[in-house]
Amino acid sequence: MTENKNKISIEDIWPQERDYISRPERLKYIRKLIPSEECVFCNEARLGPEGKGLCIYRKHGVMVVINKYPYNTGHLLVLPVRHVGNLWDLNEQEYNALSQLLRKSVEILESVYQPHGMNLGMNHGKVAGAGIPDHLHWHIIPRWSGDTNFFPLIAETKVHPETLEQSYERLHADFNKLEL
Ligand SMILES: [Zn+2]
Repeated sequence: MTENKNKISIEDIWPQERDYISRPERLKYIRKLIPSEECVFCNEARLGPEGKGLCIYRKHGVMVVINKYPYNTGHLLVLPVRHVGNLWDLNEQEYNALSQLLRKSVEILESVYQPHGMNLGMNHGKVAGAGIPDHLHWHIIPRWSGDTNFFPLIAETKVHPETLEQSYERLHADFNKLEL
């Protein structure tokens, strides 16, 4: 086989300015840039705690989901099962159950992870920073002294010592037996 010297190679069109490393597992992070038709939280609610998703608790119209893109290890979302975007649209039972679940989730994180503190918060509405504004959700983020380094600040990248599956395993037993 003779090599055609005049043939334009792919390197001529795409100059190799940098090494290219194929990481197909990163696709799941790119995929999130494409908005899904379906609400991820409603989807988690449907899967429930026995499903293959990240829902770890679902009872009394409220649920706990492990955040797929955690800011820190043990980052939980506490939310109503119903697709509701406003706090005032919750009924009394949902609101009370949500408050109870928030407190119980803090207790479970405290006993499982022994964090030095926690951030609890809700971004209410899109302009307030809610990623999924149509289905309200509280964030509970365990914090440890010195857990903020320059990576999350400059690159929105953080190395987690634990996989989501490991978090699920560590928290599952406590949420499984939780009664509000
Ligand atoms: Zn929803």
